[in-house]
Amino acid sequence: MEQRRIADLSACPDLKAPANTKLAFHVYAQGVQIYRWTGASWSFVGPSAVLSADADGKSTVGTHYAGPTWESNSGGTVVGAVQKRCTPDAGSIPWLLLGAVSTDGLADIDSPVIQTQKPASPAPVATTGSSTPVVKPAPPDDLARRDFVIPVEGVKREQLVRSFEDRRSGTRAHEAIDILAPRNTPVKAVEDGTVARLFESKAGGTTIYQFDPTEQYCYYYAHLERYAFGLKEGDKIRKGQVIGFVGTSGNAPKNTPHLHFAVFKLTAAKHWWEGTPIDPYDILR
Ligand SMILES: [Zn+2]
Repeated sequence: MEQRRIADLSACPDLKAPANTKLAFHVYAQGVQIYRWTGASWSFVGPSAVLSADADGKSTVGTHYAGPTWESNSGGTVVGAVQKRCTPDAGSIPWLLLGAVSTDGLADIDSPVIQTQKPASPAPVATTGSSTPVVKPAPPDDLARRDFVIPVEGVKREQLVRSFEDRRSGTRAHEAIDILAPRNTPVKAVEDGTVARLFESKAGGTTIYQFDPTEQYCYYYAHLERYAFGLKEGDKIRKGQVIGFVGTSGNAPKNTPHLHFAVFKLTAAKHWWEGTPIDPYDILR
């Protein structure tokens, strides 16, 4: 395809990878962006592409699908989250700078890759009733009606990327949203509530479990650099209050600070560690 090229970033200087990152490899992708007709508008489902080592597309090295995820033929995956976007060509989909939020099975890469996606494709391919239908359980009505604050300062709703159904560590579903931001960016309570638990865990690192005012739901904030000064269990907190700071504690890649944010419906017992996960993307957007 004549569109294949190395991207010229002069129109999008913000997409340059940070100086402390190194190039691990280049791959070329050929495929489509899948959209689904909701009855009122086109909703983005995900990409579906074959990755190849060379521009001729003959030596395939893996696949690219929703997440966004890049999977090598040997099974290793990189899952990214959007950091910046730029649209140098109005007729094409945006170019993205992504940070890796998970690099399972890529032990040979010693640091997560900051990737610039360069889909020099024509306008997105719209398909009715795509082959990969997304089953999205609707959020409970009472949550959908609440006016949540985005839990990371400076992040806009349209920057959020759904990653609830991504696989992390093999078969385990992610059941959360990852929001990338520079280390020490303030993390805010999404609404009023109570600090149910401050917890250090191997995977989540420094975490906060917040109950909502009705004590039906729990909000979970993980990979924090630190808590807000003086925060303690039992504290009543207000919507928008700074409760911590973005970091990489737990199993977050050390050069991809992000907030891992989850929501779950508590059981009748109201245990801070137990409940049914709800996709935060649906209630924050
Ligand atoms: Zn996460």
